[in-house]
Amino acid sequence: MKANKFLLAAVAAGALMLTACSGGGTGDSGDSGSGDGGLIGVAMPTKSSERWIADGDAVKAALEAEGYSVDLQYAEDDIPTQVSQIENMITKGAEALIVASIDGTTLSEVLQTAADADIPVIAYDRLIKGTENVDYYATFDNFLVGQQQAWTVLNGLGLTDLEGNPTDGAPEGPFNIELFAGSLDDNNAFFFFNGAMDVLEPYIEDGTLVVKSGQTDIEQAATLRWDGETAQSRMEDLLTANYSDGTQVNAVLSPYDGISRGIISALTDAGYTVGDEWPIISGQDAEVDSVKAILSGEQYATIFKDTRELAKVAAGMAVALLNGEEPEVNDTETYDNDVKVVPSYLLAPVPVIKDNVESALVDTGYWTKEDLGL
Ligand code: BGC
Repeated sequence: MKANKFLLAAVAAGALMLTACSGGGTGDSGDSGSGDGGLIGVAMPTKSSERWIADGDAVKAALEAEGYSVDLQYAEDDIPTQVSQIENMITKGAEALIVASIDGTTLSEVLQTAADADIPVIAYDRLIKGTENVDYYATFDNFLVGQQQAWTVLNGLGLTDLEGNPTDGAPEGPFNIELFAGSLDDNNAFFFFNGAMDVLEPYIEDGTLVVKSGQTDIEQAATLRWDGETAQSRMEDLLTANYSDGTQVNAVLSPYDGISRGIISALTDAGYTVGDEWPIISGQDAEVDSVKAILSGEQYATIFKDTRELAKVAAGMAVALLNGEEPEVNDTETYDNDVKVVPSYLLAPVPVIKDNVESALVDTGYWTKEDLGL
């Protein structure tokens, strides 16, 4: 039942995408497309996380299929490097830019240069803030991602299903939970954390969930650059300060698989072992090591965001603009970048637990059975 539901959600997301792409003139037709061989610059944040490598490859392939050439660059999470990569793209004559920012507030100057040269800019997955010079935004429903992360935690504790509906005969708790958030320079971190807290707060207020550290603000929970080692050392500190009296942490809200892996290392080092006392841990991105960790019981869940679909949307937006067409959007209200509301196309994220790894990730071709050791 559950698995079918997820498969349907994934298929629905795919169908949505086909619709989105038909407007943008992209598709899988395999012809050389309408591009004139012109250059499109694609700036990605880092290769240290698998997802951005998959994103970059997929955007490049989608644009090349449309007849464009692509300058794809990774900045290893260094802001000046990203700025100079974008400057270089402009100098080389890029006709459009697709940018997944490191810090969404640091690109105003270079994007002014792009605007002066009439180069349209698509924000990729992360909102670019504080500038009017961002034309469109391709992303997922980021608030829903946060809600889903919280629902997976509640599901692992036996409290709800994966859509947040309370389970009959749910345990009363209380359960100890600790909270992690992403990097505060990434707008998505706020959407994920706010979405999750929207779900968790009532359970904290009625005492079902207890944050023993008391660290419930995003500033306290944040993890600069989404770094796993930073998360590991915060988790070590939380365990030492709050759980040295023999109490156990029963759940950890984690916004990203790399952070979850840091949390898992801290728990293992503190003597936790997978089994009854092992906490429920969430995640995001369906990274291969983390999907394996779900299969082995170390991580309870991740959120699958199909980077292939996101790449098609973003590439389709760029191609549409270069053909003088209007890209398709489905949200013109949510993403205010402090200067304007950026018209957006939001894709649907899919929660993944052990039960639906195969239907969500293998049957869709995102990972093979061999990748996952199945
Ligand atoms: C993305 C997430 C990713 C995180 C860390 C966010 O902006 O939306 O998918 O886990 O960055 O790379």
